[in-house]
Amino acid sequence: MPNSDFKFEVIIRGCRGSYPKPGKDTIIYGGNTTCTEVKIGNCLIIFDAGTGIITLGQELCRKKKKNNQPIYVNIFFTHIHHDHTEGLPFFEPAYFSSTSLNIFGPSVFQDPLVDVLSQAMLPPFFPVEFSEMKSRKLVQELSDGDTVVCSPETGMPKNIIFSKEQTKKISGNDIQIRCLKGYAHPKVGIYIYSVLWQGKKLIFATDTEGYAGGDQRLIKFAEHADLLIHDAQFTSELYTDIRSPKQGWGHSTVEMAVEVAEKSGVEKLVLTHHDPNDTDEQVLAKEKYAKTLFNNVECAVEDKKYSL
Ligand SMILES: [Zn+2]
Ligand SMILES: [Zn+2]
Repeated sequence: MPNSDFKFEVIIRGCRGSYPKPGKDTIIYGGNTTCTEVKIGNCLIIFDAGTGIITLGQELCRKKKKNNQPIYVNIFFTHIHHDHTEGLPFFEPAYFSSTSLNIFGPSVFQDPLVDVLSQAMLPPFFPVEFSEMKSRKLVQELSDGDTVVCSPETGMPKNIIFSKEQTKKISGNDIQIRCLKGYAHPKVGIYIYSVLWQGKKLIFATDTEGYAGGDQRLIKFAEHADLLIHDAQFTSELYTDIRSPKQGWGHSTVEMAVEVAEKSGVEKLVLTHHDPNDTDEQVLAKEKYAKTLFNNVECAVEDKKYSL
């Protein structure tokens, strides 16, 4: 029987793009780089390990001190640019032998994901190697269209499903995390993820640039989502700025994000990956402009929680 006390919650832990930007200009929207937490019952799903994952890890450790329960974490990487991975070496739960760390994401230039993550922590760049972090780590590469099935009771992945046919066999209470390969980000692209549970749907689509007429595959993938978190790093002025155009950088404008939201009929749109040069005032102006284009839209704010 599904546990009726379980909720589907999404918490923005970091929504800054490119590099962290602490300081007086980013107090409202936050300066930590990309990390989004999804909690469903006992299942903890984390999209990306930007610097926003650091305080999340500290909170998990404080909780562990009180309840003495092991920590189970499922991290899904969209891609492995620094702003999406640089918090991982400072994710405290990874240093406990009782922690289970399930990591999913793309392979990069044919290299296994575990090798790529390990390379970023090799001496002399970092004093502790990835393999020396004491947690039990399972690193698994996903391909376009794969679905990871997790249990809201145990919080652990049950299996990975590699074809649409098999998804029919998923039990009604299972959590499904599905990936869609996005090609609109430099060199190797990114993964866009959906989380489906009990008829509710979240889409996490960061570091993606819009196409003319909208990204048709993403529009289909995001159909009728309750919440779409979409990249909107640039204003259209900046995107087309004659001195330094941003076309081809792999990020969207507000208009591109709204186009996906409208065409896929999503309930709510949250704009993320704020430009590190943008002050709170500028992000607020972006939000005000977005509201003239789409009813239910706001800019991502660090630590803000959504219930689906
Ligand atoms: Zn990024
Ligand atoms: Zn990137």
